[in-house]
Amino acid sequence: MKKILFLVMAVLAAASMMIAGCGGGDKKADSQKVLRVGTEPTFAPFEFQKEGSKSYDGFDMDLARAIGKQLGYKVEIVSMGFDALIPALNSGNIDMVAAGMSINDERKQAVTFSDPYYTSGLTILVNKDNTEVKSIKDLEGKRIACQIGTTGEKTARSVAGAKVTAFNTNDEAVMELKNKGVDAVINDGPVVGYYLAQGGNKTMMTVGDVMDAEQYGLAVKKGNDQLAKDINKALAELKKNGEYDKLYKTWFGEVKK
Ligand code: GLN
Repeated sequence: MKKILFLVMAVLAAASMMIAGCGGGDKKADSQKVLRVGTEPTFAPFEFQKEGSKSYDGFDMDLARAIGKQLGYKVEIVSMGFDALIPALNSGNIDMVAAGMSINDERKQAVTFSDPYYTSGLTILVNKDNTEVKSIKDLEGKRIACQIGTTGEKTARSVAGAKVTAFNTNDEAVMELKNKGVDAVINDGPVVGYYLAQGGNKTMMTVGDVMDAEQYGLAVKKGNDQLAKDINKALAELKKNGEYDKLYKTWFGEVKK
């Protein structure tokens, strides 16, 4: 009996060494590989910090941790400005971006994206007492706040005659709207929806339709095809084993259609 136990333990030890050894991290085999995940945490329910909390919550954060777990990485979240994420990937300061980042051609020149993991789209947030703005067309010549480096900023800047202020965080953009420093905020629909549902709807509302669909992707340094492949494999597995649906339900209250 003792012999069998010893054998089982030896096999387990060898297996765990093999798992630690493959995957290509540059850490020693005995210390767990670390996946440094960059994010900008004013984007609830995808990434945010509860007041007074140091930990990072949200769909992207749970997804990143689940992917890390699948691949045998210890996940370390690194917080920075949204516009700093791609430079941080390319300078090697982080390994992956999980930040509700929309896949688009411009970014594809700079980074490699995973398969899409969430479908989003931009929307317009205004104060409830605003009776003028009903659609993006009505924002012509108006003041718009957005977050720097986002697709929301890009769309805001395409509005004729609009005065655009790009803030470091989404929270600041919404605050500016609250203070009536701007007429509208352009931001991702699910984030605006979450904000309204959390009590923002007392004074604010969305107007117009959600704009063109945008797909979120996890991003890695351009050319890091192995990591992108691993991430896609993990994503597919999480979709297959029900974990993705579980996270989706946790954060969006329904199972993904
Ligand atoms: N999805 C938007 C983009 O990629 C906004 C992301 C964000 O603010 N975190 O630009």
